[in-house]
Amino acid sequence: LEIKIAIDGPAAAGKSTIAKITAEKLGYTYIDTGAMYRALTHKALVHNINTRNGQELEKLLEETEIVLRPSINGQAVIVDGKDVTEDIRSQLVTASVSSVATHMGVRQLMVDKQRILAIGAGVVMDGRDIGTAVLPDAELKIFMTASVEERAMRRHIENEKRGFTTSLEQLKAEIAERDRADSEREVSPLRQAEDAVLIDTTSMSITDVAEKISELAEK
Ligand code: C5P
Repeated sequence: LEIKIAIDGPAAAGKSTIAKITAEKLGYTYIDTGAMYRALTHKALVHNINTRNGQELEKLLEETEIVLRPSINGQAVIVDGKDVTEDIRSQLVTASVSSVATHMGVRQLMVDKQRILAIGAGVVMDGRDIGTAVLPDAELKIFMTASVEERAMRRHIENEKRGFTTSLEQLKAEIAERDRADSEREVSPLRQAEDAVLIDTTSMSITDVAEKISELAEK
């Protein structure tokens, strides 16, 4: 029986890593909703659209095609036919995305797209509002956290692997700021759904977390 799995939590808590592994294990579709907000943010920056301008962003999103395609590395992000998988991870996009994600009109369009992607298949979807707003009927909801120090350290290591150096202190500040913005926004703020299972991954390995979620999924 195929189910829907919602994984929410603060920035850099390991959601996408775990979601990818879980989807692969179960033969489900993986949907990274953060990548969709990042894709819109990237396009807005390219088109010089102010990330505070909700109406302009909404219009831009209406005329944007975002495709999430399974790839060897997990998922490729294609915007209007162009592969932006790497571009959407830039520091500039990361620093601007929470502002784009505050707008109600933008969120409504994104949620519609995300629900359509989840129709008729087993899915693992990760984000901030999946259990609370996008898939309130998901059979399994996970809220994944880790200390801000641990999250900054993981992102630091990830960045080094991708070839750029970042200061740990700066990463910590950026992550904390994004969490603040995502928790304090009016529309669908970052929250643990009442029926979500809390997993603090601070001192857990990737394998441990993936195993725990697979166990919960099989119940
Ligand atoms: O998951 P990721 O860090 O790539 O998400 C980037 C940003 O997109 C988040 O910080 C948040 O502002 C926004 N987002 C959101 N709702 C989601 C997924 C991401 O608001 N479901």
